[in-house]
Amino acid sequence: RAKADGRGTFCFFRDEMAATVEARRILELDLRKALANEEFELFYQPLVNLKSGKITTCEALLRWNHPVRGTVSPVDIIPVAEDMGLIVDLGRWILRRACMECMKWPEGVSVAVNFSPQQFHQRDVLSEIRYALEVSGLPAHRLEIEITESSLLRNTQLTHDILSQLHALGVSISLDDFGTGYSSLSYLHNFPMQKVKIDRSFLEGIDTDRPLTLLRGVARLSADLGMSVVVEGIETNEQLELISTDGTVSEAQGYLFSRPVPAVRMRQLLNASHGRRPEDQLQVVA
Ligand code: C2E
Ligand code: MG
Ligand code: MG
Ligand code: MG
Repeated sequence: RAKADGRGTFCFFRDEMAATVEARRILELDLRKALANEEFELFYQPLVNLKSGKITTCEALLRWNHPVRGTVSPVDIIPVAEDMGLIVDLGRWILRRACMECMKWPEGVSVAVNFSPQQFHQRDVLSEIRYALEVSGLPAHRLEIEITESSLLRNTQLTHDILSQLHALGVSISLDDFGTGYSSLSYLHNFPMQKVKIDRSFLEGIDTDRPLTLLRGVARLSADLGMSVVVEGIETNEQLELISTDGTVSEAQGYLFSRPVPAVRMRQLLNASHGRRPEDQLQVVA
């Protein structure tokens, strides 16, 4: 009886695994075709300067319009693309598309592009970036590269060199999702980076003492080290007020200002906010 149960369980797992492997194989096949079929799209979400109320940067966020599944989240795409080695081609497309789009925006607005660890550590990452700037005509100072802590884990000297060369080129580096990964505060001063994006998990319970103290502490530390500080995931006016009071946070991003929107919509938002009075500019909700 026990044996039969055991075998049943084994068969169940084997079928489950076969189904997972099959699903994954299909996803990979679809992903391979997706670039050629132009099924990828970039959405954009603004970062707003808290003093001026102006949009400083728009972050490019990948969407996959799958013919059957509908919209697929980047969280499901990027890890698979990394495993498949497709991330280099996909990343190249994302970077060039984002740079070209930024050329259509007012001159004061930059574009932020997310780089996965594998993409960041590809051999000719500098030429990739230089080339994207060249073909689009975008000045280097209007490009921000977002990396996460996991990109800083390996090849410390090499990573440092890449960051320094990017900095020399005029491209700015943001440390994304700060506080979620294998965090080390030493990253903040060991690597040349210009921005820290504090993860939205720091907003949990922000209306109570301890979480607010933690967020403000991380913000102050980053600011004291000469980095500009962004808080991600602002959804309410209350959160906005709490992070704004002591002046250490320079920019914020979140649904309160705008959800990620298609490129056409972002162009409209930027043109509209460009002509607006400064005191009205925070309300850019899409
Ligand atoms: P991320 O770079 O930290 O981007 C912010 C994510 O938080 C986005 O999710 C955005 O839609 C979401 N978000 C923004 N404001 C709010 C808010 O107020 N509340 C909540 N709950 N969420 C908010 P999205 O677009 O699903 O992207 C998820 C992650 O996928 C990104 O996190 C980034 O790590 C990755 N990703 C997206 N696009 C790309 C890409 O082009 N290349 C690479 N390598 N990774 C990408
Ligand atoms: Mg990001
Ligand atoms: Mg982020
Ligand atoms: Mg995040």
